[in-house]
Amino acid sequence: MTQSRKVFGRRQILIVEDEMINREILGNLLAQEYETVFAADGDEAIEKMKEYRQTLSLVLLDLIMPKKNGLEVLTYVKNDPQLKQIPVIVMTSDAKSEVESLHLGAADFIPKPYPQPDVIMARVRRSIELSEDRMIINATERDPLTELYNREYFYRYAEQFDIHHPTVQTDAIVLDIYHFHTINERFGTKYGDDVLRLMARKLREFAAPSGGIVCHREADAFMVYAPHGLDYIEMLASVSNALNNYVGSHNRVRLRMGVYDTVDRELPIERRFDRASEACDTVKSGYSGNIGFFDNAMHEKELYAEQLIEDFPRAIETKQFAVYYQPKYNVQAESPALVSAEALVRWNHPTLGCVSPGEFIPLFEENGLIRKLDNYVWNEVAAQVKAWKARYGAAVPVSVNVSRADIFDPMIVDTLKTIIQKNGLSNKDLLLEITESAYTKNAEQIIKTVNALRELGFLIEMDDFGTGYSSLNMISALPIDVLKMDMVFIQQAFAKTQDTKLIEIIIDIAKYLSVPVVAEGVETREQMLALKEMGCDIIQGYYFSKPLPPGEFEALWEGTRNVDN
Ligand code: C2E
Ligand code: MG
Ligand code: MG
Repeated sequence: MTQSRKVFGRRQILIVEDEMINREILGNLLAQEYETVFAADGDEAIEKMKEYRQTLSLVLLDLIMPKKNGLEVLTYVKNDPQLKQIPVIVMTSDAKSEVESLHLGAADFIPKPYPQPDVIMARVRRSIELSEDRMIINATERDPLTELYNREYFYRYAEQFDIHHPTVQTDAIVLDIYHFHTINERFGTKYGDDVLRLMARKLREFAAPSGGIVCHREADAFMVYAPHGLDYIEMLASVSNALNNYVGSHNRVRLRMGVYDTVDRELPIERRFDRASEACDTVKSGYSGNIGFFDNAMHEKELYAEQLIEDFPRAIETKQFAVYYQPKYNVQAESPALVSAEALVRWNHPTLGCVSPGEFIPLFEENGLIRKLDNYVWNEVAAQVKAWKARYGAAVPVSVNVSRADIFDPMIVDTLKTIIQKNGLSNKDLLLEITESAYTKNAEQIIKTVNALRELGFLIEMDDFGTGYSSLNMISALPIDVLKMDMVFIQQAFAKTQDTKLIEIIIDIAKYLSVPVVAEGVETREQMLALKEMGCDIIQGYYFSKPLPPGEFEALWEGTRNVDN
């Protein structure tokens, strides 16, 4: 790794020379521009280099000395990771040793007897300059942990590769380690670092002979760009074996790999690796094989996603997004009573037909478009609730979905306030559903925003509860008004074995927090009755109704607020 050298002020030079007269000649000459340190034999030279390694800019090394000679010193220095960066100029009268010392890693040589002083000074200056330039480049292009290229330089080198090999086909490959964090947690980060370094070394050993390059992207993720034909299956096996030998048989390390084979050179380099990453993400567990390939189906999906993103602005302008309302029923009333609704967006696309939010919401969450869409939905819903309020004399409470990205928008509180005021509503008319997983990362920021919203009277419903792995002691600190348990619990519990224990636990948590609990995804009367029995307050699901267009929801609200059960 690079050391901080004395870059400002006078640079420091170590003069290693057994003859006093030579030490004096060189010392006097160099002292005009440099700070000087001296050693009279090889052992002392190594000692001084260690002592001054943080500040030394150069070593002038005589080759013929008693005890350790110059070549031995040079060999030692170039094999010591802490010293090898310091440039060494050898001084000799023997042309043969000149070549040998250059092979060993000397930066330059100065012949003996000494040439003109200005020749010496010029060589010294140039060696220092070159080594400092190289250090700066190394520090910026290499990842300090693994000494592999960092992402930016890797991409640049990959582009260089393409320019120099216009006809060579190439593959983009990404690799990572399953649950790498557990290695860190169990054995400490130092051990984790060793594992990453070993992985880096193995990958480089495998890829380098064919001209492939390797990058440490972040954490446990690596990228390889290599000429097509590299046996990446063998590479995966070999890296995996090396890691498992290292950690021992009890702690198997599992790798997965994504391959975008024979890349399309028209695509920017980043996109090629996005494709490899997507392929990697298709590998869910190591059991069904651990290599994912970018294939035609993924390509189709990518094109579809691109089309949705491209069509989005026009869809907002021309109001292609429609809001549906799914009824929510209070089941603790004597007979189930329609009490509120969840607003769910649909896209009526001119050529693709009705596109479900499952297809576009995750996509828009990735690229930030979700904020625009949610804003649109909130405005639509507020206008609808205003109309209902006018018609029925009281608001129909409606919950809207709030994405993680919305909460990080510094304007969110103002935005919602404005929407409410513009439509003459009160803050509790618009319930905010925030998915539990939003709370798990950056909890503090979210809690701050949510608190601000609650102080203004907004009610917060925690959506998809049970999937975000909030720890129990965190839950009690979370500011929420309603707990909505994820559909998965309902559907799993009633699937085969009728094991409702998890649901009971979640209802207990809700009771402990003194908040009502909502169950969604309830499809049968049997499920509804069982949940009611367990103390669930509100039920939303196909058993009562699918999400409805506003007109149909109105009919239900007006006519059947009390449903027979
Ligand atoms: P969610 O907020 O958890 O919404 C519940 C989803 O479950 C809805 O799917 C709903 O139609 C579906 N569902 C309700 N009852 C049943 C049932 O009994 N059986 C089954 N199988 N499904 C049921 P939908 O409308 O496709 O929405 C999916 C997700 O998309 C939503 O999950 C929400 O996370 C997101 N989403 C929908 N609209 C918006 C929006 O306007 N903004 C944001 N940010 N997200 C939205
Ligand atoms: Mg929701
Ligand atoms: Mg949900």
